[in-house]
Amino acid sequence: MTRPVAIITGASRGIGKAIALELAALGYDLVISHFDFDSTGQPDDAAAKAAAAEISRAGAACRELRADVSKAADRAALVDLARQAFGRCDLLVNNAGIAPQRRVDLLEATEESFDRVLAVNLKGPYFLTQLVARWMVEQRRQDPRGPLRIVNVGSISAFTSSPARGEYCISKAGVGMMTALFADRLAECTIGVFEVRPGIIATDMTAAVREKYDRLIAEGITPLKRWGTPQDVAAAVGAIATGKLDFSTGQVINVDGGFQIRRL
Ligand code: NAP
Repeated sequence: MTRPVAIITGASRGIGKAIALELAALGYDLVISHFDFDSTGQPDDAAAKAAAAEISRAGAACRELRADVSKAADRAALVDLARQAFGRCDLLVNNAGIAPQRRVDLLEATEESFDRVLAVNLKGPYFLTQLVARWMVEQRRQDPRGPLRIVNVGSISAFTSSPARGEYCISKAGVGMMTALFADRLAECTIGVFEVRPGIIATDMTAAVREKYDRLIAEGITPLKRWGTPQDVAAAVGAIATGKLDFSTGQVINVDGGFQIRRL
């Protein structure tokens, strides 16, 4: 049996790594990307190599590549790697994302930070999806039935105002529309497109605001009073990857402990 193949961006740690391990356990082979630089600005792929080794121990063939999702040449190299190594892509997971380097009030925030966050969180996934979608359309012509899916990792910031990181909120709101657009366009090829929308998840990204979120969670900001884990998000991607949601497309799957419920 040919094993399905997934491309996952930003899988060296956090949510992306958990998604990679979930998909490995479900029988996928993987192409993962990362973007590490150490504190001196030197390339450092130790975390990505460790992640790839862990994924291989889980039984999957895994190739990893340093690729900045905001750069067209890097996106092309990632897709080329999947073509050369495996000759197919059954699932794309747009996970890589960044917070602004500094939380800065909306009235002071810089254009530079806006451009970087939008480039990584929205422009990169948008054009990577375009690239992979073209390939998936080719694959669909060769195989009318094989499952083909795309998952975008969004955020509750798509609909939640945080005036100290407006650029992040805008980028994730854009991911919501990007999901609808590609779901609509690709439905004729039976390519399902989903957004998995995490709430407050314990990763490096939230490490700097851990105490603040500890307090908010204890005070009940989420009906389910706990931090989410990368595995919570990975389980939702796993449900999509195993076809449990195949009559849905353009759908948002909230993984947020009920954060999105309006309450009185
Ligand atoms: P994380 O722990 O900071 O990991 C981010 C991943 O993205 C890393 O693998 C990183 O690679 C990679 N990455 C960063 N910049 C990149 C670039 N330019 N090109 C390619 N890859 C890049 O973050 P996380 O918390 O797991 O977040 C994963 C996704 O979930 C993001 O889209 C984030 O916005 C979203 N999310 C997170 C939370 C949360 O509470 N944590 C909530 C909602 C949504 P390196 O390790 O090589 O730097």
